[in-house]
Amino acid sequence: MPKTNKIKRAELYKDRSTQAFLNKFLGNEISELEPVYDPKLGYRYPIVESIVGDSSNAEDFLNKLYEAGILERRLYDKIIYCPKCGSANVSVHYSCPYCKSFNIQKSSLIEHVKCGYMDIEENFRKGNKLFCPKCHEELKKLDVDYRRAGIWCTCKDCSKSFDIPDTAHFCRGCHAGSTFEDAVIKDVYAYSLKKQVKEEVAVSWVVVNPIREFLQENGFEVESPAFLKGKSGANHMFDVAAYKGDVTRKVTVIDLAISTEDVVPEQPVIALFAKIFDVSPDRAYLIAIPEMSENGKKMAGLYNIKVVEARNQKEAVEALKDKLIRKTNK
Ligand SMILES: [Zn+2]
Ligand SMILES: [Zn+2]
Ligand SMILES: [Zn+2]
Repeated sequence: MPKTNKIKRAELYKDRSTQAFLNKFLGNEISELEPVYDPKLGYRYPIVESIVGDSSNAEDFLNKLYEAGILERRLYDKIIYCPKCGSANVSVHYSCPYCKSFNIQKSSLIEHVKCGYMDIEENFRKGNKLFCPKCHEELKKLDVDYRRAGIWCTCKDCSKSFDIPDTAHFCRGCHAGSTFEDAVIKDVYAYSLKKQVKEEVAVSWVVVNPIREFLQENGFEVESPAFLKGKSGANHMFDVAAYKGDVTRKVTVIDLAISTEDVVPEQPVIALFAKIFDVSPDRAYLIAIPEMSENGKKMAGLYNIKVVEARNQKEAVEALKDKLIRKTNK
């Protein structure tokens, strides 16, 4: 995922509505958000509406999360809106291709196997039984005596027959008719949380939150994620930036690197170095969970980045307590 999206996501994670919404996925309350059909308004997302306030914002909200790469979506339905009044309460009229009337009769075509006579079902029907209008024999068994040979439509207005009707739309709200050409058709999606985002969110909430709280309890002002402007004018994102609330305003930046395999490689060290080279904070920490590779450690030493190795967030807090609090209290 491109970096700009990562920054977009980090900003969205700070938003209370996003947090409330994503919590429903993380807590397995929803695995996929499906729209609910409302005959007047079309599809709605009631869970989102309850978070963002009203229905008109729900789609913008979901779209924002989709564009930032937080949600993925699957085409769930297509909805037809009346081009005149915008209502979603639109029905389909199958119509006569000749006179455009929707007063058409749909019938099955039946072929009497023995004599080869073919006609619509109504002409075979006598009560509950079927008789051939040509040879008058009774048709008893489907696919033995007779077979269904497709659909045949007859217009009740102009009496013409055809096999494929035209499709037109009728608005139940304003009664306007519309065709495929002028209909407004919109995609409707079901949404789910991207897998890699699930990990990212879990990291930022499960790991960063205890660190943030710990720093606040120890008299730091904390921003997380933090966007700091560098000498180059570019904004750089750090997982945490902490300031001592005194006149010195000394800045400590902290990034987290988590490896799901064994050791954290050197890339996060390089990435952090590139940022601190521009931003020049007073201290830079890289929390490596569970541990940092030897190469990473060497580079961190070179770049003046302090590496904190921890197996989990509890150990990370303990290690920070040791390094950060004792240092800044000196
Ligand atoms: Zn309408
Ligand atoms: Zn007709
Ligand atoms: Zn027959």
